[in-house]
Amino acid sequence: MPELPEVETVVQDLRKSGIEGLHFQSAQAFWPKTIETSSPQVFDQQIKNRQIQAISRRAKFIVFELAPTGWLLVHLRMTGRLDLFSKDSPLDAHVRIRSTLSDGRELRFTDIRKFGRWYFYENEPPQFSTLGPEPLSTAFTPNVLAQKLSHSKRQIKPLLLDQTTVSGLGNIYVDEALWQAQIHPVTASNQLNDQSIACLHKAIIDVLKKGIRNSGTTLGKTALNYYSVGKRRGENQEALQVFRKTGLPCPRCGSVIERLIVSQRSSHVCLQCQKPPKS
Ligand SMILES: [Zn+2]
Repeated sequence: MPELPEVETVVQDLRKSGIEGLHFQSAQAFWPKTIETSSPQVFDQQIKNRQIQAISRRAKFIVFELAPTGWLLVHLRMTGRLDLFSKDSPLDAHVRIRSTLSDGRELRFTDIRKFGRWYFYENEPPQFSTLGPEPLSTAFTPNVLAQKLSHSKRQIKPLLLDQTTVSGLGNIYVDEALWQAQIHPVTASNQLNDQSIACLHKAIIDVLKKGIRNSGTTLGKTALNYYSVGKRRGENQEALQVFRKTGLPCPRCGSVIERLIVSQRSSHVCLQCQKPPKS
């Protein structure tokens, strides 16, 4: 599932494709549920003639700021993918939305598993008010993280996956950050001391920046995996330390990496580096 580095890569690739400044001419949904905020017919009317003023990212949302007003949000969820096509290129069987742009190209949304969602809002999207800080912004400081953790007895891994704590993290980058900071995923959040929180704060930023530098993580070879615009694969899978490395040696101490289930999610840990909490 795409996380912050994957979504950021898609945003950067969309910008490079030169669609900022273009207008939407129409949108046709082949899977109506992909559009969360209205029927396909209403959405088509809403989007028509709006200009793509800027493309950005908030948490795991791709954000199209429209002119004169309006916001289009796209959440890729499991297998969603945005790509540009000439209008006469054949439609893939898994295309859920095709939207026509004013230069004749089409922005198409392909989504095998059908969990991806598009949202249109006239005013600022309501999702924005509940999201935690952007981890690569100056708003995310060790103190802000400490505040969030000190008020919760929850295990640290599910708390970090919760988008109201920090925006944009998912299973891959949480496992990588907890390993770097040497924190076991079931540690109670309010039990972490200032030094551990400072390490975790740095680790979150490090793993996300590395993920972006490497254009995201594409784990497998099938169409179910993450690809950016132009079917571009990520390369961060080559740089992962523990995620899906079960049975391999820990890059820091050489102990065997183990797989645990924490809150129904696979977790990859080195139990030498990440000591389980006492009791
Ligand atoms: Zn280790």
